[in-house]
Amino acid sequence: MRRVFLGLGSNLGDRAGHLRAAVRALCRGPHLGVAAVSPVYETEPVEVEGEQPAYLNCVAELRCGLGPLELLRYCQGVEAALGRERKGEKAPRTLDIDILLFGEELLEHPELTIPHPGVERAFNLRCLADLDPGLYIPGRGGVSGLLAEADLEGVRASGEVVEPC
Ligand code: ADP
Ligand code: MG
Repeated sequence: MRRVFLGLGSNLGDRAGHLRAAVRALCRGPHLGVAAVSPVYETEPVEVEGEQPAYLNCVAELRCGLGPLELLRYCQGVEAALGRERKGEKAPRTLDIDILLFGEELLEHPELTIPHPGVERAFNLRCLADLDPGLYIPGRGGVSGLLAEADLEGVRASGEVVEPC
């Protein structure tokens, strides 16, 4: 079983409901278990075009018996099931699932880069450090040190809670 961290984000409709539905779907997954979910943060969209609603973001920690590409396929199925419409990259979405970390693996595949290229976004570092301040991000460093350097403006506690299962 690998220790995997997934970044969950939603900026359309019932955002917290989408995050909860995603965690429930991950709990039902084959060879998957959700061990913990970070607090939920509201974040101003970064690296997107034009005006967009704010995101709710959190990180789920999983125990995963799937391979990285099998996990990607499962996550894409969950995104599709929760009605994500692909109106192009960076468009608003009901649910985005990013594989931030997969154990200590480094992977460069046409469909899958691990750690996720956005792992050092401030809200991801905040959530990862909430789950495990001692976490090491392969190729980057310790999460606490990276967080100390991050710009957390635009990242605020939402008060929403997503339970693991
Ligand atoms: P983004 O998350 O960058 O806003 P998408 O969610 O639409 O954009 O993802 C685009 C593509 O990113 C997917 O088709 C997937 O193959 C690829 N991808 C590469 N690395 C990862 C990863 N670590 N986790 C999830 N998707 C990834
Ligand atoms: Mg994504």
